[in-house]
Amino acid sequence: MGETVKYLLDETRIPKEWYNIVADLPQPPAPPLHPGTKQPVGPADLAPLFPPELILQEVTAERQVPIPEPVRALYRQWRPSPLIRARRLEAALDTPARIYFKYEGVSAPGSHKLNTAVAQAFYNKEAGIRRLTTETGAGQWGSSLAYAGTLFGLEVKVFMVRASFNQKPYRKAMMEVWGANCVSSPSNETEAGRRVLAEMPDTSGSLGIAISEAVEIAAQNADTNYALGSVLNHVLLHQTVIGLEAIEQFAMADDYPDIVIGCTGGGSNFAGLVFPFLGAQLRGGRTVQAIACEPAACPTLTRGRYAYDFGDTGHLTPLVKMHTLGSTFIPPGFHAGGLRYHGMAPLVSLVQELGLIESRAFHQTACFEAAVQFSRTEGIVPAPECSHAIRAVIDEALRCKRDGVAKTIAFNLSGHGHFDMQAYLDYFAGKLQDRDYDAAMLDAALAGLPVVAA
Ligand SMILES: *Cc1c(COP(=O)(O)O)cnc(C)c1O
Repeated sequence: MGETVKYLLDETRIPKEWYNIVADLPQPPAPPLHPGTKQPVGPADLAPLFPPELILQEVTAERQVPIPEPVRALYRQWRPSPLIRARRLEAALDTPARIYFKYEGVSAPGSHKLNTAVAQAFYNKEAGIRRLTTETGAGQWGSSLAYAGTLFGLEVKVFMVRASFNQKPYRKAMMEVWGANCVSSPSNETEAGRRVLAEMPDTSGSLGIAISEAVEIAAQNADTNYALGSVLNHVLLHQTVIGLEAIEQFAMADDYPDIVIGCTGGGSNFAGLVFPFLGAQLRGGRTVQAIACEPAACPTLTRGRYAYDFGDTGHLTPLVKMHTLGSTFIPPGFHAGGLRYHGMAPLVSLVQELGLIESRAFHQTACFEAAVQFSRTEGIVPAPECSHAIRAVIDEALRCKRDGVAKTIAFNLSGHGHFDMQAYLDYFAGKLQDRDYDAAMLDAALAGLPVVAA
């Protein structure tokens, strides 16, 4: 059994700038299009939803974007997060691989999402906004924005996907502790919600529906903006503090990853860890093998089409070019609520198209098996989302053992699973099913993709 080794940075080493991969890519990202005219959107189109600074960050090609001092000051509450060598897991697997994880569960809400929530709340407060609306799947994003709202004196209203709202009452309670209002989506409070309820009263909801509800309210109220917890360029940008810190921590460890791994829902925690390493590679540094891990029940990167699509079910958002299962696709029930989105971050989609990353899909029982093995060696109970990354890590470590090669593997442990213990109970009771997506629904959803001039 190896001893636990943590690589801890002094808080003065919290990055002063976020890293923007757009500056290092061989081609620029495709522009978002207006949902009506299908022409590239301008800042004015986004102004009803986002503050000016975030709109700028959405389109900037600058390599480095300064982190405002008040945001860095708040980061000090939980950053720099530790990089931990998983020596006991290595010993249990009897692998020559060296396994490291960056642990983002140390934030108050328990995931990486607070990295962007405090930044978004800061820019909205600066722009004179009074209230934020948002969606949440598993509740990690809703609770992160609730806390960030409290820190900056902003009201927060959260539309929580019905399936999770019923499964995870303590996430709702957490949002209320931090002063937010959380309602089950689809709700009767919006046009988009009422339309879905009329058609499908028993729906379990989806992130696409919840986004429509949150966007509708923000678009109709001048004092209210919308905040998104993943997918958009500015969200991925804020998450790069993870990888920037990890690069410094690997220098302390006198090591460097051959393989970097993250789970992908909308792509933000994956990009947060991986993009700084890809940037170093694109600027002539060492090559890393980057692996995005997703659920087989919602296989956006492995089965989706790379095309322009809406970000939401109600078709209120701009069209973005991404890997998508179609905006009407609703995945079957599974426990990683944070990975149930029909689309993928345009920047993660682009780096896959450029051959810079690969993606793999996993069934949930194999993921829970990996999460339990991790927990029995390293202690931390992972969020079900992260279990997808851990599955790939263990697979790669066992491959190293078979091949007799000692690779260095790094992964993002994006959050803890303390609010997901029901999922673990279901796993132990043998109640989890490995359900595949409905192929007919996927075909129908893809057939309904918007038509856009080439
Ligand atoms: C939300 C969430 C995810 C999925 O979102 P990404 O934008 O893909 O990171 C993954 N892990 C945790 C812990 C989450 O809360």
